[in-house]
Amino acid sequence: MSKKISLTLIGNNPKPAKIHDLVKAPANTPWAKEKQQSWDANKPATVYVTPETLPDGTPCSAVTVILRTKGCHWWWSSGCTFCGYFNDTRDDVTNENLHAQWNSAKEKYDNFTGQQMVKIYTSGSLLEDREIPIEFQETVLRECHEMGKELIVESRCEQLSEEKLAWATSLNPSFTVAIGLEAYDDEVLRFHVNKGFSTKSWDKAVENLRKFNLRVKTYLMFKPPFMSEKDALDHGVRWIRDVASRSDEISVNPMNIQRGTIIDRLHRHNEYRPPWLWSLVEMIKQAHPHIYPEGGVNGSPDQICRLIIHPTAGGKIRGAHNCGSCDKFVVAAIERYAVSGDLREFEGLSCECQSIWQAELALESALPLPLGISQPRRGNRIENLRSL
Ligand code: SF4
Ligand SMILES: [Zn+2]
Repeated sequence: MSKKISLTLIGNNPKPAKIHDLVKAPANTPWAKEKQQSWDANKPATVYVTPETLPDGTPCSAVTVILRTKGCHWWWSSGCTFCGYFNDTRDDVTNENLHAQWNSAKEKYDNFTGQQMVKIYTSGSLLEDREIPIEFQETVLRECHEMGKELIVESRCEQLSEEKLAWATSLNPSFTVAIGLEAYDDEVLRFHVNKGFSTKSWDKAVENLRKFNLRVKTYLMFKPPFMSEKDALDHGVRWIRDVASRSDEISVNPMNIQRGTIIDRLHRHNEYRPPWLWSLVEMIKQAHPHIYPEGGVNGSPDQICRLIIHPTAGGKIRGAHNCGSCDKFVVAAIERYAVSGDLREFEGLSCECQSIWQAELALESALPLPLGISQPRRGNRIENLRSL
């Protein structure tokens, strides 16, 4: 009699599947390949304008240019467990294409006349020569300096060597580097995120950035895969505390589910629920004293760095969410806090669903449940509990 085979997340092979294989599988599917080829390599993925704040606290207008690139070299060899950028890349983008994209973005917003800040995102690292031709890195650095714009670029840690930064600052002496650190915890970086670098490499990168007087923006991930809500809350507060004094700005990104990722697969199997908005509020309340030791607000003399939380897809099933009826008020309060740094933004917020959230946290503190017990908002709650 043949043995019944059932498909599980880790497969049925005698050798356990590596996280690497799970990360890579969807990128090679026909739908992913087809999507990649469908992009116009001469047009940026998106260009849009948002309100922002300059380093000195002045409100300004910022243009974000998301370029269509070859993607991230870490993705080529492995990749992070939640990264869906492969959906937006094309592996044959050239220097000419990137220049055409840059010109098209400038054209759309009249050479960025009305914007003081320019954010360039490349689904990887702008300063990585294998991903972005050096001529194009030079164009962005030089032109933003010549136009007098506050520039923000993204990078992994390994590109931020003294040599590279000496070259970059010779073209543009003052810009911000945003690093997707995700977690200040080597175990989480390795087993939950598959980040491919350690906290030590972040320490070194920040040390180098400081040497060249560059600004540091640190992205932290709230609730990476394979983590319960309670652990996410405790870790989130600790990571903010650990990186605050070495960052100019911390941006906490609550997990949102991107297509074809490991986290997408866990989510569809009811093994992962994006974070509760209540957890974000609680994290802010607990982390606030690490940012403002004297109880200040944004701009106060005691402020150590800026803390920003922007719940992408907040209130939606694939983003941080609550019960569905209180979501928009809680998202609005979190976004107001990112601007004001004032805990009074959360005064008066309450909803019946808070008791469910609190019960989940209490249970997760008492029971050894690595994936947590929080249930998605979709579907029937009783059926979901039965499937545990
Ligand atoms: S380093 Fe960034 S771009 Fe590269 S795989 Fe990880 S999240 Fe994606
Ligand atoms: Zn609610």
